[in-house]
Amino acid sequence: MRAPVSAYIGLGANLGDARSTVLQALKAIADLDGLVLTGQSSLYGSAPIDAGGDDYVNAVAEVQTRLSPHALLEQLQSIENAAGRARPYRNAPRTLDLDILLYDQLVLNDDDLVIPHPRMRQRAFVLRPLAEIAPALVERAHLQSVADQAVWVL
Ligand code: ADP
Ligand code: MG
Repeated sequence: MRAPVSAYIGLGANLGDARSTVLQALKAIADLDGLVLTGQSSLYGSAPIDAGGDDYVNAVAEVQTRLSPHALLEQLQSIENAAGRARPYRNAPRTLDLDILLYDQLVLNDDDLVIPHPRMRQRAFVLRPLAEIAPALVERAHLQSVADQAVWVL
């Protein structure tokens, strides 16, 4: 079995009960086999970027995991699917988005998985919560470049 590594997961939801969706997702992540939840940011609010709809609730989780990147993605997608089934809006925005932001030092780019997450450095709703729990991983210049995006602690 592989040695555990640190990975960071971005959480986002923008339906009415988005706050509890994100809190439930954090619990579901903590309950997964093959990882330990070692950190979680505050909950943040953010305005949708390039889209209409309600404000988002965002957070970042830190895990120590023995799961491969693809196995971790599969587990996260099963949590996304469960959240979708719990709130079956037709043609609604996704109830829950779980993205692998970073996985140890891995750089990966295949059909299913791009790590580091390709858009994380342009998204204040990722960088702000990530900087809260892992300040060494977020460059000041990146934070400054997204300072115009509306993100607030809930
Ligand atoms: P968004 O890019 O807005 O998060 P989706 O969650 O719908 O959009 O993206 C789904 C697809 O993105 C997944 O099927 C997955 O294969 C792919 N993907 C690529 N890289 C990643 C990553 N780092 N984390 C999560 N999904 C990823
Ligand atoms: Mg996603």
